[in-house]
Amino acid sequence: MDIDIQITESSSSKCLRTELEDMFEKSTWIRLPRNVVVGHGVLDQTADVVSGSHLTGQPLVVTSPTPKEVAGDRVVEQLSSIGPRPEVVVVEKATFGAVEKVLARAEEIQPSYLVGVGGGKAIDIAKMAAADRELGFVSVPTAASHDGIVSGRGSVPEGDTRHSVAADPPLAVIADTEILAEAPWRLTTAGCADIISNYTAVRDWKLANRLKNVQYSEYAGALAQMTAEMLVERSDSIKKGLEESSWIVVKALVSSGVAMSIAGSSRPASGAEHLFSHQLDRLAPDGALHGHQVGVGSIIMAYLQGGDRENWRNVRNALESIGAPTTADELGIDDQTVLEALTSAHEIRDRYTILGDGISKDAAREAAAVTGVI
Ligand SMILES: [Zn+2]
Repeated sequence: MDIDIQITESSSSKCLRTELEDMFEKSTWIRLPRNVVVGHGVLDQTADVVSGSHLTGQPLVVTSPTPKEVAGDRVVEQLSSIGPRPEVVVVEKATFGAVEKVLARAEEIQPSYLVGVGGGKAIDIAKMAAADRELGFVSVPTAASHDGIVSGRGSVPEGDTRHSVAADPPLAVIADTEILAEAPWRLTTAGCADIISNYTAVRDWKLANRLKNVQYSEYAGALAQMTAEMLVERSDSIKKGLEESSWIVVKALVSSGVAMSIAGSSRPASGAEHLFSHQLDRLAPDGALHGHQVGVGSIIMAYLQGGDRENWRNVRNALESIGAPTTADELGIDDQTVLEALTSAHEIRDRYTILGDGISKDAAREAAAVTGVI
C-alpha cells in the first residue's frame, strides 16, 4: 500500500514538472483588432475611430468602384478633416497585380497607414499591401461577405497558386450596418455560409489534433463553433431588407475573427471546406462567392466527417434557411468540376483535414450525390 502511494506521488510530481517545464517554454501572442465599431451610421465616426486608434499621417485608401461611391468618398472626406487628404487607389479585381499596383503607389507616397473600403476584395488587397510594408490598416467593409473583413488573414489567386498573408488583424474595423444592409443580399448570405462552415472547420481541427498532434485551442474552437450555432439559431432574423441581419452577420464575423486571433491560425474557421473552395477558385475562376462555395463544401465535409448522421443535414438546412446555395447547380459550377475539386483539394496546402491525403473519385461522387450537391 505504502509503495503504491509512493509510486503515485513520484509519477504525479514528474508529471507536474513536465507540465511546468512546458508552461515555461511555451508562449502565445494574441493579436486582436483594437477598435471594432458596428452600428447604424458609424461611417460618420471614421475620423474619431482613426484618431482613437492613434493613426496619424498620410493615409492610402484602397477601394473598388462601387464601394468607393457607397462609402469610400465619405471615408476620404472624414480623414481629410484630421490629416493630409488620403491618396486613393481603385482596384477592380482581387489579383496579385492589384496588390502590386497598391504597393507601387505606396512606394511613391510612403503612407503612414492603409484603409481598405469594400466588400472583401479591396480589404484583402489593402491588408496584403499593409503587411508587405509593415503598416497598420483599417477595415471598412461595405458587405458582410466573409470573415476576412476582421482578420489578418487573406489570400489572392495568381494563376495556379495563391498568395497568402497571415498578418496582424486590422487596427480598427468600421462596420456601418446601414451600408451593409444595402449590399446585394447574396453577399450577406455568403457571409452567413462562411460562418456556418465553422462547424466542419472545428471538427477538422480536432481531427488534426488527434491524428497529427496539431495544436488545438479549446477556447478558439468553442468560440468558433458557438458563433456558428448562434447564427443558425437566429436565422429567422436573417432576412433580406432587415438591417438587423447585417448586425447579426457582422458580429458573427467579428467573433470568428477573434477565434482566429486566439488560435493564431485560421483553423477555427477554415478546414476542408475552405480547401475545396480554393480549389474551385482555381478550376472555375468565375465560379461563385467564397462563402457560398465553402457552404456547399461544408455539407460534403460534414458527411465525410461522419459521426451523427444528421450532421450534414443540419449544415444543409442551415444554409437553406438563409437562402445560400446547397448544390453545384446553384453555385453555377458543373458536377465534374466539383468532383475534381473534391479529389484534389488536399493538395492545396499542408493542412490536415478529413480529406487526409486525398479521397477517391468514387468516394467523392458518393458523398456529393448522397448530400444532393450533384
Ligand atoms: Zn472563409
